[in-house]
Amino acid sequence: MHNHETELEAAERRIRNIPRCGAAKLARMEESFLQLLQAIGEDPSREGLLRTPTRAARAFEFLTNGYRQSLDEVVNGAIFESDASEIILVKDIELYSLCEHHLLPFIGRAHVAYIPNGKVIGLSKVARLVDVFARRLQIQENLTVQIADALMKTLRPAGVGIVVEAKHLCMMMRGVEKQNSVMKTSCLLGTFKEDARTRSEFLSLLVGT
Ligand SMILES: [Zn+2]
Repeated sequence: MHNHETELEAAERRIRNIPRCGAAKLARMEESFLQLLQAIGEDPSREGLLRTPTRAARAFEFLTNGYRQSLDEVVNGAIFESDASEIILVKDIELYSLCEHHLLPFIGRAHVAYIPNGKVIGLSKVARLVDVFARRLQIQENLTVQIADALMKTLRPAGVGIVVEAKHLCMMMRGVEKQNSVMKTSCLLGTFKEDARTRSEFLSLLVGT
């Protein structure tokens, strides 16, 4: 059905399909953004800002749509039986989230690995699973653990290894020290935690291309 879909069409379809938050909440967000504009000394009635509260509310609706998604819905129909028993690694999953301290973005990549125990999950669903937790207000440490826990719960694998690397705009834009530093967090569960060989294989897979 989506055979000839372009990247842009695919992105538009995904945006259409996100769970909406409802008119009442959208209206409250618009009102809040209007007040924010006034509070910073702007004139919300000038031409460039006329539709800004509406646009900003829509953007926040999208950026927080993880609150309105359940893990079960996301992975629904994409779990398959498998005899595979080696590390499965999905590397460089694009990640966009909002820091819960400043409501500013942090942007980076997630690397998701697991060792199946009878079940595997479709590749594209791994990225969607990351989004369910990234599209909320987050701190990177919690996001990393939540992705790991979700995978454990969904697949009951022998182990899970998650690494997230991200740059935080709240640090970069505010001129906080080490502006270009990338923050790295990891969560290792099951064999990734207990077995040194699994762990070192995982780390070497991450380094390799
Ligand atoms: Zn922050």
